[in-house]
Amino acid sequence: MTKETKNTKPTTTSKPATPAPAGSAAPRKKLTLNTTAFQKKLSSISVNNLLDEEPDYEKMPSLAKTKRNREKQKTKYKPNLTSSQKIVREVDIPVKISVQELASRMSEKTGDVVKALMKSGIMATANQYIDGDTAELIVTELGHTPKRAEAISLKDEIANHQKTKNSKILPRPPIVTVMGHVDHGKTSLLDALRNTNVTSKESGGITQHIGAYQIQHKNNPITFLDTPGHAAFSNIRSRGANLTDLVVLVVAANDSVKPQTIEAISHAKAAKVPIVLAINKMDLPDVDPSIVRNDLLTHEVVVESYSGDVLETEISAIKKTNLEKLLDNILLQVEILDLNVEHDKLAEAIVVESKIETGKGPVATVIVKNGTFKEGDHFTCGSAFGRVRALLDENGSRIKSANPGMPIEVLGFDSVPQAGDTVYVMPNEDIAKDITEKVKEQKKLENTESVKKSSLEEMMANVSKGDMKKLPIIVKADVQGSLEAIVSSLEKVGNEEVKINVVHNSIGAINESDVSLASSAQGLVIGFNIRAIPQARTIAKRDKVDIRYYSIIYELIDDMKKMLSGLLTPDTKEEIIGHAEVRDTFKSSKFGTIAGCFVIDGIVQNSAKIRLVREGKIIHEGEVGTLKRFKDDVKEVRENYECGISFKDYSDILEKDEIEFYITKEVQKEL
Ligand code: GDP
Ligand code: MG
Repeated sequence: MTKETKNTKPTTTSKPATPAPAGSAAPRKKLTLNTTAFQKKLSSISVNNLLDEEPDYEKMPSLAKTKRNREKQKTKYKPNLTSSQKIVREVDIPVKISVQELASRMSEKTGDVVKALMKSGIMATANQYIDGDTAELIVTELGHTPKRAEAISLKDEIANHQKTKNSKILPRPPIVTVMGHVDHGKTSLLDALRNTNVTSKESGGITQHIGAYQIQHKNNPITFLDTPGHAAFSNIRSRGANLTDLVVLVVAANDSVKPQTIEAISHAKAAKVPIVLAINKMDLPDVDPSIVRNDLLTHEVVVESYSGDVLETEISAIKKTNLEKLLDNILLQVEILDLNVEHDKLAEAIVVESKIETGKGPVATVIVKNGTFKEGDHFTCGSAFGRVRALLDENGSRIKSANPGMPIEVLGFDSVPQAGDTVYVMPNEDIAKDITEKVKEQKKLENTESVKKSSLEEMMANVSKGDMKKLPIIVKADVQGSLEAIVSSLEKVGNEEVKINVVHNSIGAINESDVSLASSAQGLVIGFNIRAIPQARTIAKRDKVDIRYYSIIYELIDDMKKMLSGLLTPDTKEEIIGHAEVRDTFKSSKFGTIAGCFVIDGIVQNSAKIRLVREGKIIHEGEVGTLKRFKDDVKEVRENYECGISFKDYSDILEKDEIEFYITKEVQKEL
């Protein structure tokens, strides 16, 4: 087989061995260019012998004549080219590529590429874009060698610019996130730790300036992060930054384990971050912390006093009791983590939050991950770049430089960065700008709509490749009974090789936290007789998280079984086309209840099927009776318009109900 690289000459030497005679250098250069163009054209046949002879540049034939000759040669050589002599090409694959361009890079017929894509379950036309991963698969399948250069090189490029010789390797302070159910005392604990610490050094409390701060405990600095919610925690993580080393789980002794406690445990486990337990509100009379310990057992959090590995402390944030012991436990737990980083290199920091402040411009709270961040540093950060105009510490005081683990506020961004983005300090302004441009370009390419397998199909591809041993699933249901039945059945699905891992389960509508957890765990969300709230739907759409709805348990289990055995190729697929919100209801003798609705997203059609959702629960499934705009019957109504809707044989509709419209589609299998 002839190996060949894209857009270059055949690998066998075809260049003239002897240098061109002096004096003919200029015209030769020009002509070499032409020959290269022809070589490219002829890349599908062996052209070596055509080029072996040193051409007489002075007497070169006309372009047209050469073309004719080459055409002749081409037909002459064609019979020799059978499929067994297929030329293997090394194909450059960018983040995204159109089907047509991919075909041309492989010198394959576009139709063959479309067919190959179809075989892997992707319906794409010649002009549509596919992502790099898919392209790589197709290239291999068609017998060529994929070369994924660009995406990696940018990362490498940044790393190369950041390299510093003989940078000191030293430990950095642990970064701790406090999580738990609302009102269990997270803020009180953070305040208590900070004030105890501040007041022990300075007189008078200092108001906290940013959402993170550092304290000293027995000469060990610890950084505390005040995340606004669990979803934010996983959001940062799903952007590729693992910012937290340890989670302090706050559980109020008088309230024990609650939905957000379970949520927090799921997030921490998915991030593979150790948990340190703080049983709070121990100052209240008649509280029994053993209830908390027992309740946590059901969620596989086994405390040390029960022979588990989760260190626990009974505290009171209000009375400030036992906080020292909690800090001791934190330090004990981080001892086993490797927190050694380079201290002298150009800094790398992670954005925790960002905003525009009048008079200051875009500002970001960041935590330095490694290296030293200095005033005047040039940096790149996602699609933003800038120069550090000022660094402020947690109290708002100006500092000259910041070490690893330090939370700081950075001024000097040209635009607002996103939480979870990484700030990389670059050697100079030009490099910082250059990298930012490249990142922007890559993002633009990533944002062009590409035909992608659903995240679910992609997951299944990973399962069948053996990359994934467990399929992470988040289950939400309407009632506890169904939830337990589903979870226990799901855990039995699978075999030695692949299993289902229920990452999180609880009752209630699917929320943002569920979706971001699924996104970071690369899993899917299952709703049983329950829907996703609009914000969750938005995130799911953005992050391509699969949400599957079921109302019959055995169908759910059946689907999951099929999925694990790689058989999930449904002939029909449900597509949700829009949602309407009920704003008012009227009684009609002819149609029963008519709901005055507002279409909140998508489109509603009188031919579609509907589900009536009340407080996240499905209470009716059926068909549309009438769809009206003012007095007229209409076929469809679009987003942001009002309409009147009645159902076939169903009248129990209330204000604030949501109507989901869906159609079932045949899934195309063959060309
Ligand atoms: P968060 O929602 O988890 O941030 O909870 P907060 O810190 O805002 O506390 C919620 C409520 O619990 C507030 O009224 C606090 O005063 C109270 N609280 C917090 N810690 C304690 C504690 O140790 N003992 C008692 N008795 N109350 C507490
Ligand atoms: Mg709070």
